[in-house]
Amino acid sequence: MQLDAHLVHVLVCPICKGKLEKRLTDGYLVCKADKLAYPVRDGIPIMIVEQAVPLDHSDHQVN
Ligand SMILES: [Zn+2]
Repeated sequence: MQLDAHLVHVLVCPICKGKLEKRLTDGYLVCKADKLAYPVRDGIPIMIVEQAVPLDHSDHQVN
């Protein structure tokens, strides 16, 4: 799934207002500060905290 680069550029995390990082592997938008991955469905980022996936569960990284 390809995201519009401009769309990603204007998207910020609803929690910390920080810049989101596009994760190409599965199309998530990731906030590293909050360790949350926001899903993208049908090309539309779901910027809802309740829908976000904790990175600790979606990745194999342990901090
Ligand atoms: Zn954030």
